[in-house]
Amino acid sequence: MSAVKDHIDQAVDRLAESLQKLSLTIHAHPELCYEEVKAAGWLTEFLAGQGLKVERGVGGVETAFRATIETGAGPTIAIMCEYDALPAIGHACGHNAIATAGAGAGAALAAVREQLPKGCVQVIGTPAEEGGGGKVKLIRAGIFRDVDAAMMCHGWDKWILHQDLLGIVRVGFEFTGKAAHAAADPWEGVNALDAVIQTFNTVSMLRQQVKPSARIHGIVTNGGAAANIIPEHAACLFYVRAAELDYMWDLHRRVIACAEGAARATGTSLKVIDHSESAYEPLKRNDTLLGAFRANLLALGATESPEIKDRLGSSDVGNVSQVIPCIQPMMKIAPDGTPIHSRAFEAAAAAPLAHAGTLTAAKAMARTTYDLLADPGLLAKAKGEFGA
Ligand SMILES: [Zn+2]
Ligand SMILES: [Zn+2]
Repeated sequence: MSAVKDHIDQAVDRLAESLQKLSLTIHAHPELCYEEVKAAGWLTEFLAGQGLKVERGVGGVETAFRATIETGAGPTIAIMCEYDALPAIGHACGHNAIATAGAGAGAALAAVREQLPKGCVQVIGTPAEEGGGGKVKLIRAGIFRDVDAAMMCHGWDKWILHQDLLGIVRVGFEFTGKAAHAAADPWEGVNALDAVIQTFNTVSMLRQQVKPSARIHGIVTNGGAAANIIPEHAACLFYVRAAELDYMWDLHRRVIACAEGAARATGTSLKVIDHSESAYEPLKRNDTLLGAFRANLLALGATESPEIKDRLGSSDVGNVSQVIPCIQPMMKIAPDGTPIHSRAFEAAAAAPLAHAGTLTAAKAMARTTYDLLADPGLLAKAKGEFGA
């Protein structure tokens, strides 16, 4: 078994130069959500060159792709790539490294194809993580339907096996009342802004009783037209975040109830603007997959850091983890203390340290994929844990 893993490591090392070039090229040409035409092109060209069967534009998403290695009937393991950049600050989330680690893992597994147990490996290119929800679209299009387990590595300043991601769902409220002169006939009016203010007050009270990891935050998007008119229309928008999916939807319901109560209290009518379709779901933990990844990562000489329990973000990889067993370990591609979405992280994502971390992540993902194909008990355990 370890002989195959040695061959996997050697294949990644052999490809180190091409992988670095791929990473730096993507880094130098940042493309936003759903515009990652060049990155998807370079990645698919590389994977096709390594002997994977490439499909472009899968799931009806132009910049998505799937690159497959098939060795016979068996389980399907997916390795995900992200490659979108941020507005104004380029690859400050290091998605060039995510893409390169995924492509490197796929290429290494293609190189040991003859030694792979029966099954299927898919490198799935998932666009638009930074707000566009590419994985949400691909899930709806059925791209993950036949996948048994999935993984990806995200850039960070440390090796961390699991970090919670908060689910996030947006909800808007539009209140309608009745306009009147605010001094001459205020009793003729029905104040829609009062309903907005009452919603914020009630949400603030709710916030006292929510779990520490939950976040509820909003803005007023319409506060009325003029101070001498009782506002006829007023509106607000809230983001609701939580670390567990059920709890996120529970809080979502309770925030809507706050707005309903405010409408009742003020005599306004309420229209709820539902954004449930674009929710990013929390990352569902899978200790079986994490354990397999950890063993491979530590064997490669990496040092694991403890999980971070505050400073939590959100990602559409959470949605994947709610439909199949899925992990997103953090790979060290930046010096300690470098925050993501910063100019320093953007620079780090193109430096030699990032390249070294990317190669280690590629090896660890390819080895873990091999473990899942070789040991049906391991995959069964991961699935059992997922379903539990
Ligand atoms: Zn990001
Ligand atoms: Zn990111």
